[in-house]
Amino acid sequence: AHLDRIDAVDESVRAYLHVAGAAAMEQAQQVDDRRAKGETLHRLAGVPIAVKDVMTTIGMPTTCGSRMLEGWEPPYDATVVRHLKDAGLPILGKTNMDEFAMGSSTEHSAYGVTRNPWDLERVPGGSGGGSSAVVASFQAPLATGTDTGGSIRQPAAVTGSVGVKPTYGGVSRYGLVALASSLDQAGPCARTVLDTALLHEVMAGHDPMDSTSIDAPVPAVVAAAERADVSGMRIGIIRELTGEGFQPGVQARFDEAVQHLVDAGAEVVEVSCPSFTYALAAYYLILPSEASSNLAKFDAMRYGLRVGPKGVQAPSAEQVMAASRDAGFGDEVKRRIILGTYALSSGYYDAYYGSAQKVRRLIADDFAKAFESADVLVSPTAPTTAFRFGEKTDDPMAMYRGDIATIPANLAGLPGMSLPSGLADEDGLPAGLQVLAPAMADDRLYSVGAALE
Ligand code: GLN
Repeated sequence: AHLDRIDAVDESVRAYLHVAGAAAMEQAQQVDDRRAKGETLHRLAGVPIAVKDVMTTIGMPTTCGSRMLEGWEPPYDATVVRHLKDAGLPILGKTNMDEFAMGSSTEHSAYGVTRNPWDLERVPGGSGGGSSAVVASFQAPLATGTDTGGSIRQPAAVTGSVGVKPTYGGVSRYGLVALASSLDQAGPCARTVLDTALLHEVMAGHDPMDSTSIDAPVPAVVAAAERADVSGMRIGIIRELTGEGFQPGVQARFDEAVQHLVDAGAEVVEVSCPSFTYALAAYYLILPSEASSNLAKFDAMRYGLRVGPKGVQAPSAEQVMAASRDAGFGDEVKRRIILGTYALSSGYYDAYYGSAQKVRRLIADDFAKAFESADVLVSPTAPTTAFRFGEKTDDPMAMYRGDIATIPANLAGLPGMSLPSGLADEDGLPAGLQVLAPAMADDRLYSVGAALE
């Protein structure tokens, strides 16, 4: 049914970069065989899933939305992908994304834009706009994402779906093409909180192949989603992430959601996180710094695109590298490599990267203080509903500003969820509510999310 649906609608939504119909049917058959043999399988066994094209997959291309990796078929599966296969989730294909996960609209994909199923003239969010769009257009019931600064939560918000960034270290990064290693975290996308919890359970768990993987039991996310209990829970509203700068309709749905939580027995407190004012500045120094280092491996020698400089006979390795990186990377990727190498250069290291790391610590301290008086924190996920194509592509700062509410959790390594809060009055488009929790208390996100559903 999902393959038929893809045939019917993906010509207009354009969320898949690769569809693996035959392989998915074969995996579904294997699930039936395993069941027939009496094997007890996860509740999601047989439920198909779409995988963000940042995760390596055997037998399918992994492009990361970049010309640099066009046609590359990785020789190994990401740990997350292996978990999906072990649990018996047939993989429908790979979803579109901003190149190397840099962006908030999927307009930076080298393979064209993905359209928001709610309004085909608008973006589906990013970088994981392909995953949010397949879920919202019923081309897959589940999808995977990665969230370095909001790329699971913001696409979920603008497509009326649910997305979770787990605690940093909760889900293995092995086999994810790295953007910023200290911020990257893979997580689940779905249409309901319980579906999201079930997928979270499949994806998570300790992995010796990832040095930052947490060796502790996976938080009880499914039980929390099933209980849907917020009685006595202290909900903290982050003063710096409400009101001014947020679209009125987004703010109104947020206020109503908070009232629902009160009606369900929660207590509301206001918290202040003054250092969040500097979160964007810190993030957009730390992320490019790490990205410039991670992307250095695309040197045209080991794998990926290799082109010779035009008109040069017997070019040097350096000339081939320069020509390949020029042809293989898009503008946003180049912009961040330049920013990152500049911020890390010896004369500026203390002023930029060093200062950003200090701000990162202050943000973590703000969270720690806020969690003394609240069990979870809430805010709108994104300042606006889905914007139109081209609205922000000429103004990188405008695009970056949309990440204001999502990036603090990445800087502090904390788990966060976005779930639909309703449709904004101005435009009738979905608005998102964000829930944040302390490290390894991912289950609290699901208690709140399920109570609101
Ligand atoms: N919009 C953010 C950025 O462009 C988020 C990226 C992400 O989470 N992968 O960096």
